[in-house]
Amino acid sequence: MISITFLGTACAVPDKDHQNTHFVVESGEHFLMVDCVGNPIVRLEQAGFDPLAITGLVLTHFHPDHVSGVPLLLLDLWLMGRKNPLPIYGLHDVILRFEKMMALYGWEDWKGFFTVELHRIPSTEMTPLIQGDAFQVLSSPVLHMIPAMGLRINTKDGAIAYSADTRPCDAVVRLADGADILIHEATGEGDGHSFPEEAGTIAQRAGVRELYLVHYPTDGDPNLMVEQAKSAFDGIVVAAQDLMKVSL
Ligand SMILES: [Zn+2]
Repeated sequence: MISITFLGTACAVPDKDHQNTHFVVESGEHFLMVDCVGNPIVRLEQAGFDPLAITGLVLTHFHPDHVSGVPLLLLDLWLMGRKNPLPIYGLHDVILRFEKMMALYGWEDWKGFFTVELHRIPSTEMTPLIQGDAFQVLSSPVLHMIPAMGLRINTKDGAIAYSADTRPCDAVVRLADGADILIHEATGEGDGHSFPEEAGTIAQRAGVRELYLVHYPTDGDPNLMVEQAKSAFDGIVVAAQDLMKVSL
């Protein structure tokens, strides 16, 4: 089984019911966090997870509404006694900025800090991040204001794709090709973002079964957003909500 739990679904401005968009993926022994914001330990516990169980962290791009929680996550995992290495995956630009951020926090002085394995992902399509027999994660560059990558997760139980922050692009169609679920941003107005109808068009072109809209303005009408996406897509459309869990 593969499950996604949305830890947040808002665009850059959250509200009391919506954290910024980030989620976890559970499959077999894998427990992957995709982006990390706010107060991660609190959020993971609210979702019923043991924070120490995280097996990897994927950073889609280096905007604060996607990475602001990383230093606190690392600090707290260290204080909670984590010993296992933690792999972090990101584009070259993302890992470079991550290292600068952690240097400002003086992480080299954290005694007994667990090993963080930095995986610098090239900006090429369908690059494997994790390649197991039963769990495979691929990334492709997408079209945002800064370097950003979308994802595809393949398991024996099905495939899930994530657009990350992007304007509508063919790379996401290819990432999501024939997937069971596409998680697509629906920010609307703004450079490097997509409207719900455009997310619907991408889902239709990719031939996915279900479309989950995330990274949306919290002051909008979720039903309207779903209708707009459905105008371009024949499948199921859901406005994802915080702490919603979806399994295949
Ligand atoms: Zn962004």
